[in-house]
Amino acid sequence: MERHCELCGKPIPLERLDALPQTRRCVDCARENGSDISAKRVDIGMDLDTYRDLLRAVRS
Ligand SMILES: [Zn+2]
Repeated sequence: MERHCELCGKPIPLERLDALPQTRRCVDCARENGSDISAKRVDIGMDLDTYRDLLRAVRS
């Protein structure tokens, strides 16, 4: 189950996903731009579940 950073596109390390399953940013981007965990839904521009479905559709 690989996930890529929403900002730089690099793969997010599995250890980070284990610790923060909700995260969409790698360590570097979270440090520079703030953790996405506290980011509001507005940042995505759509409902979180819709966003996830879209990501899933893009990958399949
Ligand atoms: Zn990144």
